[in-house]
Amino acid sequence: MAERIDCAVIGAGVIGLAIARRLAMSGREVVILETEDAFGTHTSARNSEVIHGGIYYATGSLKARLCVAGKQTLYQYCAAHNVNHQRIGKVIVATDETQLAGLKKYQQQGEINGLDDLKWLARDELAALEPEVLGVAGVLSPSTGIIDSHGLMLAYLGDAQLHGASLALKSPVESGRLTGDGIALNVGGDESMTIVCNTVVNSAGLHAQALARKIAGLPPETIPPTYYAIGHYYTLTGATPFRHLIYPVAGRNWLGVHVTLDLGGRCKFGPDFAWIADIDYTFDTHREAAFYEAIRRYYPGLQDGQLQPGYTGIRPKIHSPGTEAPDFMIQGPQDHGVKGLVNLYGMESPGLTSSLAIADYVYDLLAD
Ligand SMILES: Cc1cc2nc3c(=O)[nH]c(=O)nc-3n(C[C@H](O)[C@H](O)[C@H](O)COP(=O)(O)OP(=O)(O)OC[C@H]3O[C@@H](n4cnc5c(N)ncnc54)[C@H](O)[C@@H]3O)c2cc1C
Repeated sequence: MAERIDCAVIGAGVIGLAIARRLAMSGREVVILETEDAFGTHTSARNSEVIHGGIYYATGSLKARLCVAGKQTLYQYCAAHNVNHQRIGKVIVATDETQLAGLKKYQQQGEINGLDDLKWLARDELAALEPEVLGVAGVLSPSTGIIDSHGLMLAYLGDAQLHGASLALKSPVESGRLTGDGIALNVGGDESMTIVCNTVVNSAGLHAQALARKIAGLPPETIPPTYYAIGHYYTLTGATPFRHLIYPVAGRNWLGVHVTLDLGGRCKFGPDFAWIADIDYTFDTHREAAFYEAIRRYYPGLQDGQLQPGYTGIRPKIHSPGTEAPDFMIQGPQDHGVKGLVNLYGMESPGLTSSLAIADYVYDLLAD
């Protein structure tokens, strides 16, 4: 006979763990099912580790709302739980006059999204703040920061476990079906089994759509298409010349090759953007020349040989090349008609920043 469990959260990335924590802390019985032999080894370990301010996202979108709300609660959470982080601030830089209108738009959109601390920097103010950066103007976002994402996940998991949740590693969910009084999940791995759950949260990241398609009874037309876009990071040898995170004025679907600093003070550049057909983290070293060119537009002091290949991350996309990046797609029973099921699709940036707010949002969807 199948085992009965109250809630299953599928996927132990930063979002799945935040949701598991939220459900467990509300008194629900929770099991986190994870394919890998450790938590947080995919997108949650392959990102910029930036606590985003919430500047770029469309007015009223989930990305804007959950990022701005999530940022506040994340800072409070990190302080209370000793998660290593730093409110280092970021500067978006216009490298020539043609980018000034774009820079102004960022500031306006950030203000619409609720940021009241953005500061326009004239050329001399920018030069005083970041002497190595070339630009005609900038916007300072003081509330942008950096975070140890592994430490954050460990803290979420610890909270969840303290409230009775368990983490089942090497437990890939292979399929599911609606039973009439719950959702049955077939879990593979060494000890394969079937469990029947009142609540299932599909937080499988890059695999969320593939998994949803294997849940018999879930209307397939509610599942978005699957696309992937890879981003590479190069690290800078030697001491960092920057005091803040530095971002260019970039395109529609991507923030541009930017500077992030890690908590050890090391500097990395990335991610770039390329559509790919399959999940493959292989680093393509042919991108080096494009990186030098993009970085030298705002950091002309970059010397040949200073960039070293770092790592890659893959964005879980739900829109095709050439189209505008849509909002997070978080579907509850009201959207697909299946009681007790939430699917999270397209959880790219700013998913890490928004994780606590996403968890509250999912909790509310399930409570409705
Ligand atoms: C290049 C890049 C840079 C980014 N930078 C930032 C940033 O600076 N700031 C920010 O806020 N956000 C950033 N993001 C976004 C952020 O990293 C993601 O939103 C977040 O990590 C997604 O977490 P997740 O839990 O949804 O996915 P994941 O971390 O991918 O976790 C999903 C988990 O599900 C598991 N899984 C998959 N299928 C199954 C199955 N069938 N059964 C069981 N388990 C399964 C996987 O093994 C995985 O562990 C970035 C993203 C990318 C790609």
